[in-house]
Amino acid sequence: VKRSGKNAFRFFDPKLNTHHRERIALENDLHQALERGELELFYQPQISLSQQRVIGLEALLRWNHPQLGLVPPSSFIPVAEEVGLIGDISRWVLDTACAQLARWRRSGHTDVKLSINLSPHDFDHRDVVRSIVGCLSQHGLPAGQVELEITESMMMNDSAGVATKVRQLREAGIGVAIDDFGTGYSALAYLQKFPVSTLKIDRSFIRELDVALTNPIISAITGIARGFNLQIIAEGVERQEQADALRALGCDVMQGYLFARPGTAHEAEAWLRQVPSH
Ligand code: C2E
Ligand code: CA
Ligand code: CA
Ligand code: CA
Repeated sequence: VKRSGKNAFRFFDPKLNTHHRERIALENDLHQALERGELELFYQPQISLSQQRVIGLEALLRWNHPQLGLVPPSSFIPVAEEVGLIGDISRWVLDTACAQLARWRRSGHTDVKLSINLSPHDFDHRDVVRSIVGCLSQHGLPAGQVELEITESMMMNDSAGVATKVRQLREAGIGVAIDDFGTGYSALAYLQKFPVSTLKIDRSFIRELDVALTNPIISAITGIARGFNLQIIAEGVERQEQADALRALGCDVMQGYLFARPGTAHEAEAWLRQVPSH
Protein backbone atom coordinates (compact mmCIF):
# COMPACT_ATOMS: atom_id res chain seq x y z
CA VAL A 1 0.00 0.00 0.00
CA LYS A 2 1.50 3.23 -1.22
CA ARG A 3 0.81 5.41 1.75
CA SER A 4 3.05 3.35 4.05
CA GLY A 5 5.90 4.57 1.88
CA LYS A 6 9.32 2.92 1.95
CA ASN A 7 8.78 1.57 5.42
CA ALA A 8 6.10 -0.72 4.10
CA PHE A 9 8.79 -3.27 3.25
CA ARG A 10 9.71 -3.56 6.88
CA PHE A 11 6.28 -4.88 7.69
CA PHE A 12 6.04 -7.06 4.63
CA ASP A 13 4.56 -10.38 5.49
CA PRO A 14 5.28 -12.90 2.73
CA LYS A 15 2.20 -14.86 3.70
CA LEU A 16 -0.01 -11.93 2.75
CA ASN A 17 0.00 -11.08 -0.91
CA THR A 18 -0.45 -7.53 -2.15
CA HIS A 19 -4.12 -8.09 -2.77
CA HIS A 20 -4.72 -9.15 0.81
CA ARG A 21 -2.79 -6.27 2.31
CA GLU A 22 -4.61 -3.74 0.15
CA ARG A 23 -7.88 -5.26 1.09
CA ILE A 24 -7.21 -5.04 4.80
CA ALA A 25 -6.21 -1.39 4.42
CA LEU A 26 -9.38 -0.67 2.45
CA GLU A 27 -11.48 -2.41 5.04
CA ASN A 28 -10.05 -0.27 7.83
CA ASP A 29 -10.53 2.97 5.92
CA LEU A 30 -13.99 2.10 4.66
CA HIS A 31 -15.32 2.25 8.20
CA GLN A 32 -14.50 5.94 8.28
CA ALA A 33 -15.27 6.84 4.67
CA LEU A 34 -18.92 7.60 5.35
CA GLU A 35 -18.30 9.72 8.45
CA ARG A 36 -15.53 11.64 6.72
CA GLY A 37 -17.71 12.38 3.73
CA GLU A 38 -15.36 10.63 1.30
CA LEU A 39 -18.10 9.00 -0.77
CA GLU A 40 -19.45 10.76 -3.82
CA LEU A 41 -22.01 9.94 -6.46
CA PHE A 42 -21.14 10.35 -10.11
CA TYR A 43 -23.84 10.28 -12.77
CA GLN A 44 -23.87 8.86 -16.28
CA PRO A 45 -26.51 9.91 -18.80
CA GLN A 46 -28.92 7.55 -20.54
CA ILE A 47 -29.77 8.94 -23.94
CA SER A 48 -32.78 8.41 -26.13
CA LEU A 49 -31.58 8.59 -29.72
CA SER A 50 -35.06 9.21 -31.10
CA GLN A 51 -35.72 12.03 -28.62
CA GLN A 52 -32.13 13.30 -28.83
CA ARG A 53 -31.95 14.00 -25.13
CA VAL A 54 -30.93 12.69 -21.73
CA ILE A 55 -33.90 10.76 -20.37
CA GLY A 56 -32.15 9.26 -17.36
CA LEU A 57 -29.04 9.30 -15.19
CA GLU A 58 -27.44 6.37 -13.39
CA ALA A 59 -25.88 7.16 -10.02
CA LEU A 60 -22.46 5.50 -9.71
CA LEU A 61 -20.60 5.45 -6.43
CA ARG A 62 -17.04 6.73 -6.00
CA TRP A 63 -14.76 6.82 -2.98
CA ASN A 64 -12.38 9.75 -2.73
CA HIS A 65 -9.76 8.03 -0.64
CA PRO A 66 -7.36 10.55 0.97
CA GLN A 67 -4.25 8.59 -0.09
CA LEU A 68 -5.37 6.27 -2.87
CA GLY A 69 -7.41 8.80 -4.82
CA LEU A 70 -10.60 7.78 -6.60
CA VAL A 71 -11.34 4.15 -5.72
CA PRO A 72 -13.79 2.40 -8.10
CA PRO A 73 -16.84 0.63 -6.67
CA SER A 74 -15.60 -2.74 -7.93
CA SER A 75 -12.76 -2.57 -5.38
CA PHE A 76 -14.73 -1.56 -2.32
CA ILE A 77 -18.36 -2.65 -2.67
CA PRO A 78 -17.49 -6.36 -2.34
CA VAL A 79 -15.51 -5.45 0.80
CA ALA A 80 -18.43 -3.39 2.14
CA GLU A 81 -20.76 -6.35 1.53
CA GLU A 82 -18.42 -8.71 3.32
CA VAL A 83 -17.88 -6.59 6.42
CA GLY A 84 -21.51 -5.54 6.74
CA LEU A 85 -21.10 -1.89 5.76
CA ILE A 86 -23.18 -2.12 2.61
CA GLY A 87 -26.44 -1.28 4.40
CA ASP A 88 -25.12 2.07 5.60
CA ILE A 89 -23.59 2.76 2.19
CA SER A 90 -26.78 1.91 0.30
CA ARG A 91 -28.78 4.16 2.61
CA TRP A 92 -26.33 6.99 1.94
CA VAL A 93 -26.49 6.37 -1.83
CA LEU A 94 -30.28 6.36 -1.82
CA ASP A 95 -30.57 9.48 0.29
CA THR A 96 -27.88 11.39 -1.63
CA ALA A 97 -29.29 10.43 -5.03
CA CYS A 98 -32.82 11.38 -3.98
CA ALA A 99 -31.66 14.72 -2.57
CA GLN A 100 -29.87 15.42 -5.86
CA LEU A 101 -32.90 14.51 -7.93
CA ALA A 102 -35.03 16.81 -5.77
CA ARG A 103 -32.57 19.63 -6.53
CA TRP A 104 -32.75 18.91 -10.27
CA ARG A 105 -36.52 18.86 -10.08
CA ARG A 106 -36.47 22.30 -8.50
CA SER A 107 -34.50 23.56 -11.49
CA GLY A 108 -37.14 22.20 -13.83
CA HIS A 109 -35.93 18.68 -14.66
CA THR A 110 -39.13 16.96 -13.68
CA ASP A 111 -39.05 14.10 -16.17
CA VAL A 112 -35.48 12.78 -16.01
CA LYS A 113 -35.27 9.33 -14.44
CA LEU A 114 -32.68 8.52 -11.81
CA SER A 115 -31.28 4.97 -11.65
CA ILE A 116 -29.84 3.72 -8.38
CA ASN A 117 -27.85 0.50 -7.92
CA LEU A 118 -28.78 -1.77 -5.04
CA SER A 119 -26.78 -4.61 -3.53
CA PRO A 120 -28.37 -8.05 -3.11
CA HIS A 121 -27.78 -7.62 0.62
CA ASP A 122 -30.18 -4.68 0.72
CA PHE A 123 -33.01 -7.08 -0.02
CA ASP A 124 -32.21 -9.14 3.07
CA HIS A 125 -33.83 -6.41 5.14
CA ARG A 126 -37.47 -6.89 5.85
CA ASP A 127 -38.27 -3.17 5.61
CA VAL A 128 -36.25 -2.39 2.46
CA VAL A 129 -39.36 -1.37 0.53
CA ARG A 130 -40.62 0.81 3.33
CA SER A 131 -37.33 2.66 3.69
CA ILE A 132 -37.06 3.24 -0.07
CA VAL A 133 -40.63 4.51 -0.33
CA GLY A 134 -40.01 6.63 2.79
CA CYS A 135 -36.87 8.14 1.30
CA LEU A 136 -38.67 9.15 -1.89
CA SER A 137 -41.52 10.80 -0.06
CA GLN A 138 -39.15 12.53 2.32
CA HIS A 139 -37.55 14.20 -0.69
CA GLY A 140 -40.90 14.83 -2.34
CA LEU A 141 -40.10 12.66 -5.37
CA PRO A 142 -42.71 11.02 -7.59
CA ALA A 143 -42.05 7.26 -7.57
CA GLY A 144 -42.03 7.13 -11.37
CA GLN A 145 -38.89 9.24 -11.52
CA VAL A 146 -36.75 6.65 -9.72
CA GLU A 147 -35.54 3.27 -10.96
CA LEU A 148 -33.65 0.71 -8.89
CA GLU A 149 -31.12 -1.57 -10.56
CA ILE A 150 -30.84 -5.14 -9.36
CA THR A 151 -29.00 -8.12 -10.80
CA GLU A 152 -30.21 -11.41 -12.18
CA SER A 153 -28.41 -13.34 -9.47
CA MET A 154 -30.80 -11.89 -6.89
CA MET A 155 -33.69 -13.43 -8.69
CA MET A 156 -32.08 -16.79 -9.19
CA ASN A 157 -31.49 -17.19 -5.47
CA ASP A 158 -35.01 -16.33 -4.56
CA SER A 159 -36.09 -16.60 -1.75
CA ALA A 160 -39.69 -15.69 -2.38
CA GLY A 161 -38.90 -12.53 -0.47
CA VAL A 162 -37.24 -10.73 -3.35
CA ALA A 163 -40.11 -11.31 -5.77
CA THR A 164 -42.57 -9.91 -3.24
CA LYS A 165 -40.38 -6.87 -2.60
CA VAL A 166 -39.96 -6.21 -6.32
CA ARG A 167 -43.72 -6.43 -6.75
CA GLN A 168 -44.26 -4.01 -3.86
CA LEU A 169 -41.78 -1.54 -5.33
CA ARG A 170 -43.53 -1.72 -8.70
CA GLU A 171 -46.92 -1.31 -7.06
CA ALA A 172 -45.57 1.82 -5.39
CA GLY A 173 -44.73 3.06 -8.89
CA ILE A 174 -40.96 2.71 -8.56
CA GLY A 175 -39.07 1.34 -11.56
CA VAL A 176 -36.96 -1.80 -11.26
CA ALA A 177 -34.30 -2.62 -13.85
CA ILE A 178 -32.41 -5.88 -14.29
CA ASP A 179 -28.76 -4.87 -14.60
CA ASP A 180 -26.25 -6.78 -16.76
CA PHE A 181 -29.16 -8.65 -18.30
CA GLY A 182 -28.22 -11.88 -20.03
CA THR A 183 -25.02 -12.53 -18.09
CA GLY A 184 -26.55 -14.62 -15.32
CA TYR A 185 -28.32 -17.93 -15.58
CA SER A 186 -31.17 -16.42 -17.51
CA ALA A 187 -34.12 -18.62 -16.73
CA LEU A 188 -36.65 -16.46 -18.47
CA ALA A 189 -39.44 -17.77 -16.29
CA TYR A 190 -38.38 -15.35 -13.60
CA LEU A 191 -39.58 -12.43 -15.71
CA GLN A 192 -43.10 -13.64 -14.96
CA LYS A 193 -42.44 -13.73 -11.26
CA PHE A 194 -40.51 -10.47 -10.96
CA PRO A 195 -42.51 -7.68 -12.56
CA VAL A 196 -39.56 -5.46 -13.50
CA SER A 197 -39.78 -2.44 -15.80
CA THR A 198 -36.44 -2.33 -17.62
CA LEU A 199 -33.74 -4.64 -19.00
CA LYS A 200 -30.21 -3.32 -19.28
CA ILE A 201 -28.29 -5.16 -22.00
CA ASP A 202 -24.86 -5.94 -20.65
CA ARG A 203 -21.81 -4.32 -22.15
CA SER A 204 -20.29 -7.70 -23.11
CA PHE A 205 -22.96 -8.12 -25.81
CA ILE A 206 -22.53 -4.57 -27.07
CA ARG A 207 -18.79 -5.17 -27.44
CA GLU A 208 -19.52 -8.01 -29.86
CA LEU A 209 -21.14 -5.50 -32.19
CA ASP A 210 -17.61 -4.48 -33.13
CA VAL A 211 -17.07 -7.61 -35.19
CA ALA A 212 -20.60 -8.06 -36.52
CA LEU A 213 -23.38 -5.57 -37.03
CA THR A 214 -25.88 -7.86 -35.46
CA ASN A 215 -25.98 -10.12 -32.47
CA PRO A 216 -28.53 -12.88 -31.85
CA ILE A 217 -28.51 -12.30 -28.09
CA ILE A 218 -29.30 -8.61 -28.46
CA SER A 219 -32.08 -9.45 -30.94
CA ALA A 220 -33.44 -11.99 -28.48
CA ILE A 221 -33.30 -9.52 -25.59
CA THR A 222 -35.12 -6.81 -27.54
CA GLY A 223 -37.74 -9.42 -28.47
CA ILE A 224 -38.18 -10.41 -24.84
CA ALA A 225 -38.46 -6.76 -23.84
CA ARG A 226 -41.15 -6.19 -26.43
CA GLY A 227 -43.03 -9.31 -25.34
CA PHE A 228 -43.03 -8.30 -21.70
CA ASN A 229 -43.54 -4.61 -22.49
CA LEU A 230 -40.26 -3.63 -20.83
CA GLN A 231 -37.98 -0.67 -21.41
CA ILE A 232 -34.54 -1.48 -22.71
CA ILE A 233 -31.19 0.25 -22.17
CA ALA A 234 -27.95 -0.71 -23.90
CA GLU A 235 -24.94 -0.31 -21.62
CA GLY A 236 -21.32 0.36 -22.46
CA VAL A 237 -21.84 1.89 -25.89
CA GLU A 238 -18.42 3.20 -26.85
CA ARG A 239 -18.49 3.55 -30.63
CA GLN A 240 -20.78 5.14 -33.16
CA GLU A 241 -20.93 1.84 -35.09
CA GLN A 242 -22.35 0.13 -32.01
CA ALA A 243 -24.97 2.84 -31.58
CA ASP A 244 -25.99 2.52 -35.22
CA ALA A 245 -26.19 -1.27 -34.99
CA LEU A 246 -28.24 -1.06 -31.79
CA ARG A 247 -30.62 1.34 -33.37
CA ALA A 248 -31.09 -1.03 -36.30
CA LEU A 249 -31.83 -3.78 -33.76
CA GLY A 250 -34.62 -1.68 -32.28
CA CYS A 251 -32.82 -0.32 -29.25
CA ASP A 252 -33.30 3.41 -28.62
CA VAL A 253 -31.92 4.19 -25.15
CA MET A 254 -28.17 3.98 -24.63
CA GLN A 255 -25.56 4.63 -22.01
CA GLY A 256 -21.82 4.63 -22.53
CA TYR A 257 -18.57 6.46 -23.09
CA LEU A 258 -19.67 7.42 -26.62
CA PHE A 259 -22.06 9.87 -25.01
CA ALA A 260 -20.38 10.57 -21.67
CA ARG A 261 -18.32 8.99 -18.94
CA PRO A 262 -19.84 9.22 -15.47
CA GLY A 263 -19.41 12.79 -14.19
CA THR A 264 -20.09 14.89 -11.12
CA ALA A 265 -23.55 16.19 -10.27
CA HIS A 266 -22.42 19.52 -11.63
CA GLU A 267 -21.48 18.01 -15.01
CA ALA A 268 -24.70 16.01 -15.06
CA GLU A 269 -26.69 19.19 -14.64
CA ALA A 270 -25.06 20.58 -17.77
CA TRP A 271 -25.97 17.40 -19.70
CA LEU A 272 -29.58 17.81 -18.63
CA ARG A 273 -29.63 21.21 -20.26
CA GLN A 274 -28.03 20.25 -23.56
CA VAL A 275 -28.87 18.10 -26.55
CA PRO A 276 -26.33 15.28 -26.99
CA SER A 277 -24.10 15.44 -30.03
CA HIS A 278 -24.52 11.84 -31.20
P1 C2E B 1 -22.93 -1.30 -13.41
O1 C2E B 1 -24.13 -1.00 -12.59
O2 C2E B 1 -23.05 -2.31 -14.49
O3 C2E B 1 -22.45 0.11 -13.95
C1 C2E B 1 -21.92 0.32 -15.23
C2 C2E B 1 -20.41 0.42 -15.18
O4 C2E B 1 -19.89 0.50 -16.49
C3 C2E B 1 -19.91 1.66 -14.45
O5 C2E B 1 -18.69 1.33 -13.81
C4 C2E B 1 -19.65 2.61 -15.62
O6 C2E B 1 -18.72 3.63 -15.31
C5 C2E B 1 -19.13 1.66 -16.64
N1 C2E B 1 -19.34 2.15 -18.01
C6 C2E B 1 -20.30 2.97 -18.46
N2 C2E B 1 -20.20 3.17 -19.79
C7 C2E B 1 -19.12 2.44 -20.19
C8 C2E B 1 -18.50 2.24 -21.49
O7 C2E B 1 -18.91 2.76 -22.52
N3 C2E B 1 -17.42 1.41 -21.49
C9 C2E B 1 -16.93 0.81 -20.37
N4 C2E B 1 -15.86 0.01 -20.49
N5 C2E B 1 -17.51 0.97 -19.15
C10 C2E B 1 -18.59 1.79 -19.08
P2 C2E B 1 -18.42 1.75 -12.32
O8 C2E B 1 -18.96 3.12 -12.07
O9 C2E B 1 -16.98 1.49 -12.05
O10 C2E B 1 -19.31 0.75 -11.49
C11 C2E B 1 -19.03 -0.62 -11.47
C12 C2E B 1 -20.10 -1.39 -10.76
O11 C2E B 1 -20.15 -1.05 -9.37
C13 C2E B 1 -21.49 -1.08 -11.27
O12 C2E B 1 -21.72 -1.78 -12.46
C14 C2E B 1 -22.35 -1.55 -10.12
O13 C2E B 1 -22.52 -2.94 -10.16
C15 C2E B 1 -21.47 -1.19 -8.93
N6 C2E B 1 -21.96 0.06 -8.34
C16 C2E B 1 -21.74 1.34 -8.74
N7 C2E B 1 -22.35 2.22 -7.94
C17 C2E B 1 -23.01 1.49 -7.01
C18 C2E B 1 -23.85 1.82 -5.89
O14 C2E B 1 -24.16 2.98 -5.59
N8 C2E B 1 -24.32 0.77 -5.13
C19 C2E B 1 -24.04 -0.52 -5.46
N9 C2E B 1 -24.55 -1.49 -4.65
N10 C2E B 1 -23.27 -0.86 -6.49
C20 C2E B 1 -22.76 0.13 -7.26
CA1 CA C 1 -26.13 -0.46 -12.87
CA1 CA D 1 -24.61 -2.97 -15.79
CA1 CA E 1 -22.34 -4.79 -13.22
